[in-house]
Amino acid sequence: MTTDDKRVEFDGRCPQCKAEGETSRLRDGGTSAWLMNVSTFYDEAGVYHFHDPNRRSTWFDCSRGHSFLVHSWPACRCGYQRGETTVEMRERVKHKATP
Ligand SMILES: [Zn+2]
Ligand SMILES: [Zn+2]
Repeated sequence: MTTDDKRVEFDGRCPQCKAEGETSRLRDGGTSAWLMNVSTFYDEAGVYHFHDPNRRSTWFDCSRGHSFLVHSWPACRCGYQRGETTVEMRERVKHKATP
């Protein structure tokens, strides 16, 4: 699945290591999402819409010690959202975050 509109490309590699010209292995550290109401409906033309304002955030742990979050917003064909993906470098906090 490709979208031309992505703000930041996440290609499965650690952005920090990529910047340093290194390679590493990434471990999926879990996904969390906001809990706002998702709206799904068929419009007047019978077109199915999936409007989800929730941002999904997935942690990745890099084998060289980096950690970062990949945020994504699902897109709808009507242009409701652009299906953006952003990458945020962040220290991973060890204790469990409250949902
Ligand atoms: Zn890294
Ligand atoms: Zn829509």
